[in-house]
Amino acid sequence: MRPLDVLDLDDDLAPEELEVRERVAAWAAERVAPRIAGLFERAEWDRSLARELGALGVLGMHLEGHGCPGGSAVQYGLACTELEAVDSGLRTFVSVQGSLAMSAIHRWGSDEQRARWLPEMAAGEAVGCFGLTEPTAGSDPSSMLTTARREGGGWVLDGAKRWIGMGSIADVAVIWAQTEDGVRGFLVERGAPGFTTEDIVDKLSLRASLQSELRFDGVRLPDDALLPGAEGLRGPFTSLSEARYGIVWGVTGAARDCLERALRHAGGREQFGRPIAGFQLTQQKVAEMAVALGKAQLLALRLGRLKDAGRLRPEQISIGKLDNVRTAQEIARTARTVLGGEGVRAEHAIMRHMANLEAVATYEGTAEVHTLILGAALTGERAFT
Ligand SMILES: Cc1cc2nc3c(=O)[nH]c(=O)nc-3n(C[C@H](O)[C@H](O)[C@H](O)COP(=O)(O)OP(=O)(O)OC[C@H]3O[C@@H](n4cnc5c(N)ncnc54)[C@H](O)[C@@H]3O)c2cc1C
Repeated sequence: MRPLDVLDLDDDLAPEELEVRERVAAWAAERVAPRIAGLFERAEWDRSLARELGALGVLGMHLEGHGCPGGSAVQYGLACTELEAVDSGLRTFVSVQGSLAMSAIHRWGSDEQRARWLPEMAAGEAVGCFGLTEPTAGSDPSSMLTTARREGGGWVLDGAKRWIGMGSIADVAVIWAQTEDGVRGFLVERGAPGFTTEDIVDKLSLRASLQSELRFDGVRLPDDALLPGAEGLRGPFTSLSEARYGIVWGVTGAARDCLERALRHAGGREQFGRPIAGFQLTQQKVAEMAVALGKAQLLALRLGRLKDAGRLRPEQISIGKLDNVRTAQEIARTARTVLGGEGVRAEHAIMRHMANLEAVATYEGTAEVHTLILGAALTGERAFT
């Protein structure tokens, strides 16, 4: 039995899917794994990784045209898994850049906007961010206070966004704002007068990543800063679905790394004169973790195949986001116990995964929000308010 693939799902992957997985895993193992504990401890995001991720072909991976790699949804999912097996912060960068910022420009932008930004973003030469959440509008983005009003042939943007991944380093920010025609999206370039940022520095989760507050104080935008195709909250929600899909896969990587470390430790650590792997209670833990991981991997692959077939529905993504994240959290907690005292050390990564998964459980819709999305799909009744 393959302990990290108990359902033999690898046998269902095509050669070009396995190739992506091996390539991304090899890059992450060589370029990031050896220094991720230090990056996390120092709360650093290494800007140079953007270009390397671009060269790896994982930025906007399943988008077509304008320099985007044009891969499949399953290939993208496998890449997310391998990145998050090293650190959720790495996968978060790829999600923010590709699934949120690039997908919004790709889907809702003009030809000029696509040509201006997508090739550079796919190469990792330009960084994007996606600003939906505000200090007083999280789970309920319809309550956003940021406004864009028409003035003199352009727009004036006022308001604030909070928790925005890569916000302070982004060359272009996709910003959602209330207008007299409802919610619309705008491209705001770094350095625009009145646009300031401040990083959120006291995070205990996703420390090897960057989140910021963005403020807009009378920021003047040209007419063509508007994303012409997006009207209403459907605009940002479409990108959120893309990012949630990547999370469904990504967290299986963090969980797999935890299980792998627990198995390794259990085989080598002796107590009461024998490896702790030989105790029934340890075996129950690894058996439960392997079953849970296998089901999470199966769910991710099923959603990936549905997405590649053009049949994936938002509430199905909610099943994956809801269940795979909480499964990964449970696996991380159990794996930690197998390592005993060693399990709380940074060197063993499990506590880092555990801390990261707290943020992953909250962003892109909390467990409560995904439960309500499913509840609405099942009953026809919306229970959000
Ligand atoms: C590390 C990190 C990165 C992020 N990156 C981005 C980003 O790049 N761009 C972006 O726009 N946003 C980003 N976010 C914001 C994220 O999407 C929000 O934090 C999330 O949507 C929850 O909003 P909130 O934090 O305001 O919590 P709240 O909405 O205030 O929720 C607090 C609690 O109340 C619960 N709750 C809310 N409404 C209901 C309800 N109707 N019924 C039951 N329970 C409810 C929630 O589930 C939660 O448990 C990021 C957040 C984090 C932590």
